Amino acid sequence: MNRAQATTLAFALAAAAATVVTAFVAYRGVRSAFERESANRLQQLAELAASQLSGADLADARDLGPEGTGLLNVQAQLDALTAATGLANAAVLDDSGRVLYDVRSGLVEPGTPSAYDSLAHDALARARAGHTVSLPALNREGRETRAAAAPVPAAPGAVIVTEAALGWAAQLARLRRDLALLAAVSVLGVAALAGLVLRANASQWALERRLSRSENLAAMGRMTAILAHEIKNPLAIIRGSAKRLGKLDESSQRMADSVVEEVDRLSETVNRYLQFARAGAPGAEATGDAAATLAATLDLLAGEFAAKRCALERPAELPVTRVRLDDASLKQVWLNLLQNALEALPEGGSVRVSFARTSDRAQVRMADNGPGIAADVLARLGEPFFTTRAQGTGLGLHLSRQLIQGAGGTLELESREGEGTTVRVELPTA
Ligand code: ADP
Ligand code: MG
Repeated sequence: MNRAQATTLAFALAAAAATVVTAFVAYRGVRSAFERESANRLQQLAELAASQLSGADLADARDLGPEGTGLLNVQAQLDALTAATGLANAAVLDDSGRVLYDVRSGLVEPGTPSAYDSLAHDALARARAGHTVSLPALNREGRETRAAAAPVPAAPGAVIVTEAALGWAAQLARLRRDLALLAAVSVLGVAALAGLVLRANASQWALERRLSRSENLAAMGRMTAILAHEIKNPLAIIRGSAKRLGKLDESSQRMADSVVEEVDRLSETVNRYLQFARAGAPGAEATGDAAATLAATLDLLAGEFAAKRCALERPAELPVTRVRLDDASLKQVWLNLLQNALEALPEGGSVRVSFARTSDRAQVRMADNGPGIAADVLARLGEPFFTTRAQGTGLGLHLSRQLIQGAGGTLELESREGEGTTVRVELPTA
């Protein structure tokens, strides 16, 4: 990941987190405002109702129960209160937490303990001591309700309890759902946006890398052209001199001939590199014989292998095999690959060359038992100018692969460190 991508990701994460936190805080704020409002209202109603109860009625209710008129007065007052305000319930308790009157339960046996006292004993004790209080949330058959209690001024120790259903619970649930939806949509939006930015950035990055790579290759092409040009002139002079030397001295004729031969091969190679640098691929119409060129290259290198006491195992048969690559290019490829093997081999090593053909493909394998190639090196082989040898150019594999691929074939290297390297070339037959 590059820096722009990391920044984008950090911004996206921050934006998503901010959205979620904002929605959560907004919900919490609305919810606690609702809670406060409804607690205040319940307390005010409890205080108001308490202030209107008379001490005489309450004493009468406690002492005479349904027999007296006090309880009837209290009943009338509380029934009117709940009817007018929409409260779920209202009740009056005496100084020891027993029911004097409870709207929901109606008239009960005098001395019945109140459910409020068992559910919220501590809060009611504070109310009896003279404070208006809110009771902990109550649960009525699965529905949450809130309640408050206020002391009755005219009858010390008596308290009045007001209870209301949460009318706003449904609205709050809807708000929570809407906010969650909003947060989810925003987070998805931010994620999609970040994804787009990351993708655009990644493809720009890849493009830049491809550009700089093709610039490198273009520079390499120009350099190759200059080098090839510089080499051609001296080659012409060497060739001329060798020809003349051969004529002057009969005994060196053979040596002079082989100098001329090698110079011609070099010139041809140089010409081809020049072509490469100028136009790209070499002539696609040319064909050559993969088998005959391999045999010639093996002959050419036999002496060098012997000098290093290395074995060079030749294929049993090399039948004529036409492929879409000219002879000189084919020789160049075989020479590059065999020279790589020879350079890698220790004294006494060996290379086994095998050749196989089907109706439409030719396959050449060169398996050496040299030191092999480390995985990280193997991954980079074929990059122009990549070499591990002090005297290497790092062009051999690259150019060989270009030639083979130009002819529609493949060139693969397989290697294990310590066990050797196998090069496999496949070419479609022409
Ligand atoms: P050069 O021979 O100039 O180094 P090449 O492109 O021909 O360039 O080869 C690149 C590298 O591949 C070599 O430097 C060497 O590390 C590695 N290599 C190629 N063939 C073999 C092989 N048969 N055994 C071990 N290493 C090899
Ligand atoms: Mg090489």
